[in-house]
Amino acid sequence: MGTQVDLADVVQEWEAWLGPEDLAKARYHLRMQIGRFVTGLVTPLLLVALWLPTGWAVALRDALQANASWWRTWLYVILMGLSAFGLAFPFMWWFEFRAEQRLGTLRQSFRAWLWDVVKEKAVAGLVQSAFVAGLYWVFRRWPDAWLIGLVVGVGVFLMVAYALQPVLLRLRYRAEPLDDPELHAQLAELFARAGVPFSGVAVLRVSEKTARGNAALVPHGAGTRVVVFDTLLQALSPRALVAVVAHELGHKVHRDMLKLMIVLAVGLVAVLSMAYGLLRVIGWWDGLQGPGDVATLPLLWLMLSWLGAGLQVLLNAYMRRVEEAADAYALALTRDPAGLEEAFRVLARQNKTLPQPPLWVERLLYNHPSLARRVLALRRAAARGDGSASS
Ligand SMILES: [Zn+2]
Repeated sequence: MGTQVDLADVVQEWEAWLGPEDLAKARYHLRMQIGRFVTGLVTPLLLVALWLPTGWAVALRDALQANASWWRTWLYVILMGLSAFGLAFPFMWWFEFRAEQRLGTLRQSFRAWLWDVVKEKAVAGLVQSAFVAGLYWVFRRWPDAWLIGLVVGVGVFLMVAYALQPVLLRLRYRAEPLDDPELHAQLAELFARAGVPFSGVAVLRVSEKTARGNAALVPHGAGTRVVVFDTLLQALSPRALVAVVAHELGHKVHRDMLKLMIVLAVGLVAVLSMAYGLLRVIGWWDGLQGPGDVATLPLLWLMLSWLGAGLQVLLNAYMRRVEEAADAYALALTRDPAGLEEAFRVLARQNKTLPQPPLWVERLLYNHPSLARRVLALRRAAARGDGSASS
């Protein structure tokens, strides 16, 4: 039956393979991930402290007559959003610029990075603020039948956010076609075996900005297109790239995006309903006029951030299982465990990922199983003979 591999063996092997320098970077990266999670909970508290005890939230509402029409409400939300951006910016700089530069994963100057952040936040902020303004409109218009409005609003918001994803990527990176006919043919053949219509490969030129690697499948016309970072393309052998794409095909075939959207929509409606319930109780604090009053926004933000973090933890548990299934699919499709393991190694090196974080961090923050766990699953499947046909 062969020797049984266990997690500790894989962790030890991978940590030795990474070497002290990359291992130290991976540990630093992990601390930054934890720090980012914690500051995500703290920033909304700062927003509440800034706007509510000072009376500024109410004063600004009265000055703008912010509850009088939808565009006044929207304007209020945008102004409040700008102040939230200002409060969050030092953390953003610390975690997304300074830490990434120390890791060697970010290759941009501060100015270039800042310009990208401003562009992205402007687009995302416009959509988010419209959604939040819409929420208050729903709360005011249907104080008792708000749930239906909420469901419609969340549905529209998620669809817009989904459609916006590629736009945001294109704001940051240029795309070009893949200049490798042989690899192109290999991928076309892989798609054919998975039964998914293939509409080519787009290579994102990210290497001038980041050293991180990634790949995804996006709908394109009637088919599906592979989008791959040039950093990943350079680092992977064709065989490992095929393995990565096979994993993404697993998501496609399992309809994971659709399922995730549905789970997310249900979760968001639940979180918003709880927030609304709480606003009905605490939304009368010191000059506030109940849940329909846009001056309660700092409170809503706080509740959405905290409840949202809880939702994220649940969602992560769900996604770790989805990722496991995609790995299993990739193995079955390629029958090439070595190709998959090479891909994991390249991703670990490029993204400074610790092979195995402490269990509580994995449970809380990871939307993929740890790399050591994924490798272990691969080796166990290969030992059972699930993927040993080639290589
Ligand atoms: Zn995946």
